[in-house]
Amino acid sequence: MAKKGRVFSGIRPTGRAHLGNYLGAIQNYVALQDDYECVYCIVDIHALTTVEDTENLRQNTYEIALDLLAAGVRPAETILFVQSHVPEVMELHTILSMVTPLGKLTDLPTFKEKVRQNPDNVNYGLVGYPVLMTADIVLYKTDVVPVGIDQAPHLEFAREVVRSFNYRYHTKVLIEPQMKNTIYPKILGLDGKEKMGKSLNNQIELAATPEETTKRVREMVTDPARMKRTDPGNPDICNVFTMHKIFSPQSDVDMVNVECRRAGIGCVDCKMLYARNLNHHLEPFRAKRAELASKPDLLKDTLNDGANRARAIAQKTMEEVRTALQLP
Ligand code: SF4
Repeated sequence: MAKKGRVFSGIRPTGRAHLGNYLGAIQNYVALQDDYECVYCIVDIHALTTVEDTENLRQNTYEIALDLLAAGVRPAETILFVQSHVPEVMELHTILSMVTPLGKLTDLPTFKEKVRQNPDNVNYGLVGYPVLMTADIVLYKTDVVPVGIDQAPHLEFAREVVRSFNYRYHTKVLIEPQMKNTIYPKILGLDGKEKMGKSLNNQIELAATPEETTKRVREMVTDPARMKRTDPGNPDICNVFTMHKIFSPQSDVDMVNVECRRAGIGCVDCKMLYARNLNHHLEPFRAKRAELASKPDLLKDTLNDGANRARAIAQKTMEEVRTALQLP
């Protein structure tokens, strides 16, 4: 079936993915492959803007690659590669920075947020982050970028940079990427309050063992009104029930919905039921991940192959860019 165009998306190498990553970005990555030619990039250079200690960077890159492949990214058709393996992106970043007003970059809310988070490390790369992101997107002649609502201003920014470049150099070589609005569900962490994330240590990793997963599920915060086993609860405000609705069969969801309200099921049993269903759901993922992890050379070959295919597109784009700029 003919594909609708090329999708590009970057994912940061933050190590093993958790359920929030899975239900947000990763499942979407897998689904997009059916309709689009997909280019997925593990953005290790972006990570350098906030990561000072790179000791785990390589391992974290491999971990996220394993997660993507085990979840269903198909490397025979999809280009999966590491950002730094295609250095043309750095050249395009420098060229695009010439058509990007500095004030626009420092006005971006995400930049101000990063400055608040890392006041002692406001580096030049942090300011230019959206320009590098634009270079990532346009280097691969991307038609469509899936973005959540919070990322929409960044894509609009990228489109402006493309327009400025094409206008200044009287060319059409760079494509203005279209936005594909994507609703990423907000998955709460074990605390039931904050978004799931590593920084808060409230996550459940996809690659955790069944035992580790069950232990983490036991730590989940439930309806605080259930002080005793005999207190009725309200599943509508309980994160365990939210997760049941995602990972449990409908019969279990219906049972918990009724029994929680009349104290017919205790929270411990309810969590154990969720843990069993979650572990069952993740079984094929874990098996595939373990198989891939046992062949590190295959993983490296896969990423090298992705980089070769990405570089072929990148080199052609850069030839066109250099011609447009009349670089000798
Ligand atoms: Fe939450 Fe289940 Fe306890 Fe109800 S029984 S409060 S849904 S953990």
